[in-house]
Amino acid sequence: MLTVHGLCWLCQMPLALPAWGVCSRCSKTLFSKMCGCPQCGLPSASTNTPCGRCLQKPPPWQRLVAVNGYQPPLSEMVHRFKFNGKAELAATLARLLLLAVRQQSGLPPPQQLISVPLWQRRHWRRGFNQSDLLCKALSTWLPCEYHPRTLARIRPTATQHQLSARRRSHNLKNAFRLELPVQGRHMVIVDDVVTTGSTAAEISRLLLRNGAASVQVWCLCRTL
Ligand SMILES: [Zn+2]
Ligand SMILES: [Zn+2]
Repeated sequence: MLTVHGLCWLCQMPLALPAWGVCSRCSKTLFSKMCGCPQCGLPSASTNTPCGRCLQKPPPWQRLVAVNGYQPPLSEMVHRFKFNGKAELAATLARLLLLAVRQQSGLPPPQQLISVPLWQRRHWRRGFNQSDLLCKALSTWLPCEYHPRTLARIRPTATQHQLSARRRSHNLKNAFRLELPVQGRHMVIVDDVVTTGSTAAEISRLLLRNGAASVQVWCLCRTL
């Protein structure tokens, strides 16, 4: 994958709009062709009604939108974005997410985006927060607010992908604190990858406890 400005990230053809990062033909290949449950985003028989898992044990958020599962070439782009400091990929990936959101019907109009804060030291080491960069790009295109300091991470947590699902949610207990009011607002949590959903669930519960009207989760990849 080359990173020449003005060329498509995937096929290296010149782009009509360089800021898009991916040409329209490659964009089409990045979206999921599978049916996803509107609430958890996992493969399901219907995109209109919640899947059996959600009927039995619904996640605390109302809707989840994802571009695709964690699979190439999207997963490679997300990996570069997250670990190799390719912050310029933010606008390209945020645009894919916006296209995925626009394909959905019946989403409450979002009023405020919320990013998942990193613990200070991790942020400092990485130099950027991928969720914050996605929110910044999305908030320039959507008529909704984004205040980077709405949510704070008040203690470090072990790296989630090394833990089991149960330990993940325990690991996140009281890890976040709201710094600004969200009462009566339709909120959207934006993250790059949602796996077990324990981070999104912890933040959703915090938002709803503090009076948020609804919570959606928007992510690039939804996987288990
Ligand atoms: Zn292309
Ligand atoms: Zn579901």
